[in-house]
Amino acid sequence: MRYGYQRMYINGQWVDAHGGNTIEVFDPALGSVIATVPQGGEEDIEHAVQAARHCFDSGAWPGRPERERERVLLDIARIIRRERDVLASIEVADSGKPLADALADIDEAAFIFEYYGGWITKLSGEIPPVGPLAMSLVVKEPVGVAGCIVPWNYPFLMAAQKIAPALAAGCTCVLKPAEQTPLTALELPKYLEEAHVPPGAVNIVTGYGEEAGEALVKHPGVDMVSFTGSLTVGRHIQETAARHIKRVTLELGGKSPNIVFADADLDAAVDKACYGVFWNQGEVCSAASRVFVQEPLYQEFVNRVKESLDSVRLGHGANPATTMGPLVSHEQQERVMGHVQAAYADGARCVAKGSLPADPALSQGFFVEPMVFTDVNPSMRIMREEIFGPVMAIMPFQSESEAVALANDTPYGLAAALWTSDIKRALAVARKLRAGTVWINDSQPAPSEAPWGGYKQSGNGRELGRLGLEEFLETKHIYINLDRGE
Ligand code: NAP
Ligand code: MG
Repeated sequence: MRYGYQRMYINGQWVDAHGGNTIEVFDPALGSVIATVPQGGEEDIEHAVQAARHCFDSGAWPGRPERERERVLLDIARIIRRERDVLASIEVADSGKPLADALADIDEAAFIFEYYGGWITKLSGEIPPVGPLAMSLVVKEPVGVAGCIVPWNYPFLMAAQKIAPALAAGCTCVLKPAEQTPLTALELPKYLEEAHVPPGAVNIVTGYGEEAGEALVKHPGVDMVSFTGSLTVGRHIQETAARHIKRVTLELGGKSPNIVFADADLDAAVDKACYGVFWNQGEVCSAASRVFVQEPLYQEFVNRVKESLDSVRLGHGANPATTMGPLVSHEQQERVMGHVQAAYADGARCVAKGSLPADPALSQGFFVEPMVFTDVNPSMRIMREEIFGPVMAIMPFQSESEAVALANDTPYGLAAALWTSDIKRALAVARKLRAGTVWINDSQPAPSEAPWGGYKQSGNGRELGRLGLEEFLETKHIYINLDRGE
């Protein structure tokens, strides 16, 4: 499928980049160009921020009655559901993920608009007691213009995770999609117009992070930056935003642990351990890539994981038989294989698959086979660095306290999974794990009603749930003197 040249969207208009340059967009399963998009830069960000500023400052979006804004978000959700097949097929071609996963992303994105739409008419402030001669009103107001920057692993879902709460809060925004996967975000403006979102409320500037992203973070007219991506870029963004004391929320990387106690349901634990590392080709911030298995179960667990890899089918995401697509880019394929080489060099042993696929039909795409390493220790790079590919490392442990120490031995703290049939142990261990999400007898669910975010260097702030909305809100205290001098 070819999508041709797609313009970006600023102030309700489809526009080219000021400099006239474009970026090629690839289908990673075929290794071929399927579209081009504008290479937006500083001038385009200037234009987009001005539009967002005007829409915000004039009240064109935040000044609309709450129930009208709720209706708009519900309409966007309805249109996304109507267009789900189109959106999912674009997402497959753009990101490489299997169709079923893309459909799930689109459905969840629609739900996020419904969820945050619903909050608009339910948000209320507080009236704290300040004595009989005064009254305090604590009200919630939108932060202003939000700069939203997203990665390529869940392109449409991440865009929804930022735009829906921003609009629900009454903010206006500028979205910069990842250079590799801009296509589904560029479908959104049609839906926004159909739902009567005013011009300037949502602007989409395609381009490179170092250029368009950087300009967005630096711009004094942007009140907050909501970023999802790597630790390195997140750190840089926080430093840059500090100049204007901008609010920054960061959803960064992870090296999530998965602890399997000997009393776990083995079938479920094996199944979800594989899912937890291999779904979305391992391009998942919360991928539970460090698996710790209690000693009596260890060897059987490794054998079972190896067996289950036989059912993995690499291929184009549009093929219904495919269970694993390609990585998003040639660069990512090389990055992942670099991590694999480092694992070998450090003395880890690959017990399953472990190379690029031999099938000539896959040779043009950016595929890698799922891999499982054993004989690892916590100081090896495979146990410390985020790989962002389908690479699992399994290590045995003896005691509960050892498992907790191993799990927490990482600068990241996004998520953790644990498997046991002992509820007391499950809850005790859950409280000891330094992670923003802990799954008990599961791996990876991230329902949009609950908060998502990282401890430690996995980020700041929360996305999703009510807390995800709060990030886009300011708090104002209005104090009323009621003293009548009597
Ligand atoms: P990335 O390189 O950090 O890029 C993320 C976004 O930031 C892209 O849009 C990128 O633009 C942009 N960017 C790059 N440099 C920038 C700069 N100097 N200023 C402003 N923006 C800049 O991350 P990625 O490789 O795309 O995505 C993978 C990472 O995202 C992993 O570390 C993963 O764990 C993390 N992630 C976290 C979560 C979470 O919820 N915690 C969810 C998903 C992914 P271009 O790509 O267009 O250059
Ligand atoms: Mg990038």
